[in-house]
Amino acid sequence: MLQRPKGTVDLFGSKGRLYNNIEMYTYDYMKLNNFEYIKVPTFESSNLFKRGVGEGTDIVNKETYDFIDKGGREMTLRPEFTAGVVRSYIENKEYSFNRLKKYYYFGSCFRYERPQNGRLREFTQFGVEVIGAKNPRLDSDLIYMAYKYLEGLGIKNLKVKINTLGDNESRNKYKEILKEYISKDYDNLCDLCKDRYFRNPLRILDCKYDGNRDYIKNAPKTIDYLNEDSINYFNSVKESLTELGIDYEVDTTLVRGLDYYTHTVFEIVSSDESLSLASTICGGGRYDNLVGMLDGPSTPAVGFAIGIERIVAALECDEDSKFYNSIDVYIMNLTDDVFAYKLNNDLRNNGYTSDICYENKNMKQQWKLVDEINPNFVVIVGEDELAGGYVTIKDNKTKEQVSVKNDEVIDYFNTYY
Ligand code: ATP
Ligand code: MG
Repeated sequence: MLQRPKGTVDLFGSKGRLYNNIEMYTYDYMKLNNFEYIKVPTFESSNLFKRGVGEGTDIVNKETYDFIDKGGREMTLRPEFTAGVVRSYIENKEYSFNRLKKYYYFGSCFRYERPQNGRLREFTQFGVEVIGAKNPRLDSDLIYMAYKYLEGLGIKNLKVKINTLGDNESRNKYKEILKEYISKDYDNLCDLCKDRYFRNPLRILDCKYDGNRDYIKNAPKTIDYLNEDSINYFNSVKESLTELGIDYEVDTTLVRGLDYYTHTVFEIVSSDESLSLASTICGGGRYDNLVGMLDGPSTPAVGFAIGIERIVAALECDEDSKFYNSIDVYIMNLTDDVFAYKLNNDLRNNGYTSDICYENKNMKQQWKLVDEINPNFVVIVGEDELAGGYVTIKDNKTKEQVSVKNDEVIDYFNTYY
């Protein structure tokens, strides 16, 4: 039997609907925030990710899907969007207009990870990249935007964690201090962290094996090695978060692995049980070095990415979620008279989500369909109704029934629904 690849999912039925509703909510939300949609390729030259994500990272070291195309080029399926968006910004000379670009994207990412709850090999990211401004108020606005997005979806027990890596000067100083501290315990590090020690020592702080050891927990903190500019920048971010009413926790161990981060880094986690193994829903931060690292003119930037399947997992357990919503009306079609089909289309033309039974099913079979579809209302068109020039409308929640004249059905919904 043919089977889907490990670490991928088929989403259909109620889960498919949930995913689709989240996607539509995302597009509306980003229009509200005046962001520009960007679509970048699903695959890019492997080099982009090696340089843009960094060779010392888990993503590039172990997780990429690489292939050689028929022209002999080394290609990689995108493991994230930031590198591709920045490549596009530079290639299309978007910097030459000398104004802020605010992009958002929504699409698949690919990482060869060990599949488990909340961890897939093909998953969906929604994220934003704002390129062209360095302003702590912008960082806090993005945190606010991500938080409100998740809150609006109905995700419970959200927590914002923030930290700062400081500017390049502070960060480089900290890196040396951390390396010195760790060097004493180098032999006890896991194999991966031994490698990280040379390539990307900050990543050791959120190692899945070593990260929980007291030794790492007591490591020097970035926050103690900030220069004055970096302290002021971080204070400003915190001040505006407080003004915006966002509760946050400063987590001095939060470093996020990528080489290009500077200043603000943040995560939004949920302690929702359904996410036990993968509680981080959103990760982001400022990356003032990346555009320059990819041969563009030095340009500050900040962004975040959210894993959509983790949202689906969180909402799946909430039967009352509005994102599960079914259709407004289901037409129980018992005679196959054209009137029933016309009514279905009239309802749609008036903005109601509506559907009808196209199969030759008896009443009992159609009620079974209604149970599966769970519409808000059932409109019954049977022999008696047709002969009398009316329909029976049943409220599927309260189970109350009324008779409504054929030409008053739309009015009825407009008034009572
Ligand atoms: P983690 O620490 O969980 O591995 P990450 O730091 O690798 O996360 P990012 O690269 O910051 O994750 O990606 C942003 C978001 O994308 C994550 O917070 C998560 O919601 C989602 N995500 C990342 N990897 C996966 C995956 N393999 N399957 C499903 N969602 C994922
Ligand atoms: Mg990861």
